[in-house]
Amino acid sequence: MKITMTDKGLRVPDHPVIPFIEGDGVGCDIWPVAVDIFDHAVEKAYGSKRSVEWKEVYAGGKAHEKTGEWLPSETFDAIREYLVAIKGPLTTPVGEGFRSINVTLRQGLDLFVCLRPVKYYPGVPSPVRHPERVDMVIFRENTEDLYAGLELPAEDGKTGMVIDYFKKEFGWVIKPDSALGLKPISISGSERLVREAIRYAIKHGRRSVTLVHKGNIMKHTEGGFLRWGYELARREFGDQVVAESEISGEVPEGKIVMKNVIVDAFLQQIILTPDQFDVVATMNLNGDYISDALAAQVGGIGIAPGGNINFNTGHAIFEATHGTAPQIAGKGIANPGSLVLSGKLMFEYLGWNEAAEVIEKGFSAAVLKGREEKRVTSDMVPFLENARAVSTKDFGRSIIDCM
Ligand code: NAD
Repeated sequence: MKITMTDKGLRVPDHPVIPFIEGDGVGCDIWPVAVDIFDHAVEKAYGSKRSVEWKEVYAGGKAHEKTGEWLPSETFDAIREYLVAIKGPLTTPVGEGFRSINVTLRQGLDLFVCLRPVKYYPGVPSPVRHPERVDMVIFRENTEDLYAGLELPAEDGKTGMVIDYFKKEFGWVIKPDSALGLKPISISGSERLVREAIRYAIKHGRRSVTLVHKGNIMKHTEGGFLRWGYELARREFGDQVVAESEISGEVPEGKIVMKNVIVDAFLQQIILTPDQFDVVATMNLNGDYISDALAAQVGGIGIAPGGNINFNTGHAIFEATHGTAPQIAGKGIANPGSLVLSGKLMFEYLGWNEAAEVIEKGFSAAVLKGREEKRVTSDMVPFLENARAVSTKDFGRSIIDCM
């Protein structure tokens, strides 16, 4: 049965078909382990009442071998049809003119939110003293900004024409040997991102939504994002939010606080006082840096989950956020954590919260385990007390045993 989108949101049958892309490199190590964990979690949560019918679709190296294409149209069509998919990492072949498969999927399905929850799991090695103070959910805009791919190379005739045009029309002086990039930030793109961040905060009982920007320097683009974000909050969520600047004393009961921070200050504050932030909404480039910086802080760079979502059409692709790790691919030693926790995020998106909780419980108990010896993949061993390196499969087994 297919997952469908209705006026009231996603309609998820009890036995949905979910396409998956195994992924390149360590994909063949982590996918079989992750899917076993997902099936166990669903069974534990719902017995035989619910199950997932996994449908393999191809992209990356496996697709290229089978069809000669890196992203066959059948794969794209299947994800469009079944709405929700999950994937392992994909190789982006180096070379001019090759468009990243990830970017093609995100743009083709207009997956405008990159959702990155960042939270600490006790027992996971972290470089900071109080990683437990980090519990944020990043909404990163996924389709605009300097990442839109609108670039012109240096010393090219067309670039020269653009440089001349700017000089003539705006009086802008740009060095003639410059490369150029365009930073589109639209009202509609900013509004749909901030809207979903606020809806998320309301639905999950979060305290605040912080808009992160560099509007003091980039006044029209990042400053626009900030202004449109506040205007939208007031217009569409007036009785549910309150701007931080309007609060004197206690936050009014039940209201979500709208705040904003300049991105460089934000990068300091997430190290010094991360507990002041909750849901965060930002543009593509800031979001890229922030997500990885925060993931590192909770020790989760190898286990950070992610999802790319269009909340209007329902389309979503959940994915391991690390790459293909070619050095360890096929050895059966990769950490499946990022894909496993992305699956947890996917089940939450589907409204299967009980299955999501079972996965989270299994994962955190497997890395915590008190005085018992922890059986984890080798990347985590140097940072944990009383831990032994085991294979991807055995770590997966340990997660299932702890569910
Ligand atoms: P990488 O994430 O593959 O590797 C960085 C380091 O982390 C390596 O030391 C690697 O061994 C380790 N690592 C990564 N995942 C791990 C896991 N699950 N368990 C244990 N250790 C792990 O990044 P890279 O080397 O920059 O990129 C390799 C390839 O992956 C490139 O082709 C790149 O384009 C691609 N990539 C894909 C995605 C994606 O599909 N979402 C993301 C990033 C990179």
